[in-house]
Amino acid sequence: MNITEIFETMDYGPAPESPTPALAWIKERQPFGLFINGQWVKPASGQYLDSVNPSTGKPLTQVAAANSEDVNAAVTAARTAFETWGKTPGHVRARYMYAIARHIQKHSRLLAVLESLDNGKPIRETRDIDIPLVARHFYYHAGWAQLMASELPGYEPVGVVGQIIPWNFPLLMLAWKIAPALAMGNTVVLKPARYTPLTALKFAEIVQEIGLPPGVVNILTGEASQVGEALVRHPDVNKIAFTGSTDVGRSLRRATAGSGKKLSLELGGKSPFIVFDDADLDSVVEGVVDAIWFNQGQVCCAGSRLLVQEDVAERLIAKLRARMEKLRIGDPLDKAVDIGAIVSSAQLKEIQRLVEQGVDEGAEMWQPSWACPTEGYFFPPTLFTNVSPATTIAQVEIFGPVLVSMTFRTPAEAVALANNTRYGLAASVWSENINLALDVAPKLKAGTVWVNCTNLFDASSGFGGYRESGFGREGGKEGLYEYVRPAWETALRATARVAPTIHEWDVQPSMVGARLAPALGPAPGKDEDTHDHAGVSDFSNGSRIALPAIDRTPKMFINGKQVRPDSGYSRDVYDPAGRVIGQVGEGNRKDVRNAVEAAHAASGWASSTTHNRAQILYYIAENLSVREGEFARRIVQQTGRSQADAITEVQAAISRLFSYAAWADKFEGVVHRPPLRGVVLAMKEAIGVIGMVCPDEYPLLGFVSLAAPAIAMGNTVVVVPSQQSPLSATDCYQVLETSDLPDGVVNIVTGDRDMLSQVLADHDDVEAMWYFGSAEGCKRVELASASNMKRTWVNYGHPRNWLDPIQGEGEEFLRESTQVKNIWVPYGD
Ligand code: NDP
Repeated sequence: MNITEIFETMDYGPAPESPTPALAWIKERQPFGLFINGQWVKPASGQYLDSVNPSTGKPLTQVAAANSEDVNAAVTAARTAFETWGKTPGHVRARYMYAIARHIQKHSRLLAVLESLDNGKPIRETRDIDIPLVARHFYYHAGWAQLMASELPGYEPVGVVGQIIPWNFPLLMLAWKIAPALAMGNTVVLKPARYTPLTALKFAEIVQEIGLPPGVVNILTGEASQVGEALVRHPDVNKIAFTGSTDVGRSLRRATAGSGKKLSLELGGKSPFIVFDDADLDSVVEGVVDAIWFNQGQVCCAGSRLLVQEDVAERLIAKLRARMEKLRIGDPLDKAVDIGAIVSSAQLKEIQRLVEQGVDEGAEMWQPSWACPTEGYFFPPTLFTNVSPATTIAQVEIFGPVLVSMTFRTPAEAVALANNTRYGLAASVWSENINLALDVAPKLKAGTVWVNCTNLFDASSGFGGYRESGFGREGGKEGLYEYVRPAWETALRATARVAPTIHEWDVQPSMVGARLAPALGPAPGKDEDTHDHAGVSDFSNGSRIALPAIDRTPKMFINGKQVRPDSGYSRDVYDPAGRVIGQVGEGNRKDVRNAVEAAHAASGWASSTTHNRAQILYYIAENLSVREGEFARRIVQQTGRSQADAITEVQAAISRLFSYAAWADKFEGVVHRPPLRGVVLAMKEAIGVIGMVCPDEYPLLGFVSLAAPAIAMGNTVVVVPSQQSPLSATDCYQVLETSDLPDGVVNIVTGDRDMLSQVLADHDDVEAMWYFGSAEGCKRVELASASNMKRTWVNYGHPRNWLDPIQGEGEEFLRESTQVKNIWVPYGD
């Protein structure tokens, strides 16, 4: 071909990257062993597994097949190493991590080629995206290791962390897991995906090269059923961090329920790519290429649903088809290739199956005219039009280069379509009208929103899902909390106490903060309010007869109204001497459903101003303080505690309401400056409807400590008060009714704690569950929450001291009440 011809066709020439150094590296080491305690060891089973090159379908090498014996050895090594590493000063850990980052850069080309050989992704991506992001992740987290003592005071590492990663970004997912874990002083046992072990093994070599203490990082290759499951079940593993499919994530939630292991799950997605009619369509086309054909579409946050405003749909689809015709598919080591190979024949078959199903369901499929290579696992870029939103291809994660497109007319319809899946990982919004884009972004149920861009990642900006895309964040400061625990909690767990009585805690006025002058009301039975006491009246005829008390049996509090329990039953409330002191409604499934419905209907609370929410919390505090004496007497009556203790609890509850009124307009997001021309707005958003089950230990303070932060952050709640002493919460009905709180923001259902919490945890419209009760109850809640991958916050049967401001209030509560959404806004033309 001469220059004139090239000028005419604008064809690329071949630009091959040599595999020779990577193949030589493999040859010298194969078969690969396991990396345990800083050493390469043979697998206990003596078995090895093939690792295949997806672009040829031929074996590349063999890696060890670990089993539970190897898992035990690795966890033991990690535990031993933790004893020292967990106490190693942050500066020392930072130096090791800095060295890891440097060595990744030193070996960057080898790592990039190995990744392309093993996974099938184009070298252009591994070289320019995966590996630089890996290095950046270690640099960024070296910084957090350095700053941990000053920036996360009162927090400790979790311990030994089991990490399970997928095959789509093998080394990047390793970095997302290992960097924050090490920075916070944990040790790890990591299992790479079965299909893509090689860069993790090269990483193990780097760990050796830099002299990281043995046992801090252990890498076990092998199969999910042998390594993954053993790691998840291992009693000496304190946390599991997982990225992969939602189905496996759900099984891990169930497997770890009640164990006390921390869990973070980064799962699947079906992310919308929303194009408004004023968008720059040529940029949109390039955006779509990055959204769905990057990494062959095997990206959890791939923009796999193209939602286009109706009036530009035809034009955009025509442009897109023209661009697809020019995409180049082939040898991943050719630098001019856009699309490489699918990771495995199984994944290829799954893509083919779903595409056939799309055609069967009536959607219109379009593929470019050129043919894919016949050797290896290739699938052409594919576009579906005429797709109905309820069909399989519009709902299921295909995890391949397959785009489905739908149209909308108005921004409201775009938001509704975008949110119409069970997932919530990411979204992209394209419009030249930044006001429109920034109006739409907060309405999308997604952990990341890209405005006029897509698939951008940076260590400074946390990544993770809403809804069934999982919970927990990776990256950013928020990601660090996945790898630490409050120090007081570790001490509490160590003592393994189950039911301390209130007097075991030193109730000191200082714990309430600036204690108010004791506005003690009259002694019980002697105050101005005689509603709940039998009184004596003088009648005009001179006779004196005893008046019966006016019955005050509390109902449920649903949608701002006091409603009778659906069951028509009541339950007795006893004092410590076993005397009946009142009755509350026996809540059932239907009451919970009504309460959840009311809480959903009140979702506008999340968009009320933070000032407004603060005002209402102050007002609740004000109204509670007016009845301080009455609330204290109720505590005395239910718990038998002293009047002084009870007053302290009421005052702590009032102080706590003030705290969250104060926080309502101060627990704000941040603006990140990742390495790009633009900003990332990290917004703290409400989670939605939170089901909360209150502790028995402090009937009023426990209730206030949970409900106040949640509503301060814009959530609506369904509360099950203390089963033993529910009257402190039910006495709040009138306080709430007179405090301008919109209907449905707080709903209270009394009754059997375990039954009600099960219904709440099973409910698909409850987005998070908090449970402070028995260890068995916590397990049940965690198990049931797997149904829609609710976020859970439970105490595993270890009561905290609610009076202590460190345990009973503060940022931990606010973090549990929010999820971070990162909105990427590039600027410049
Ligand atoms: P999986 O979720 O099965 O695998 C992810 C990781 O978990 C792998 O290391 C796997 O090991 C391990 N694993 C699997 N089952 C268990 C288990 N029971 N206990 C512990 N560890 C386990 O994803 P697949 O690789 O099977 O891909 C299937 C689908 O998942 C894809 O088509 C895609 O839809 C989705 N997916 C989503 C990803 C994301 O980033 N959100 C990433 C990868 C896949 P092993 O490799 O040995 O099986």
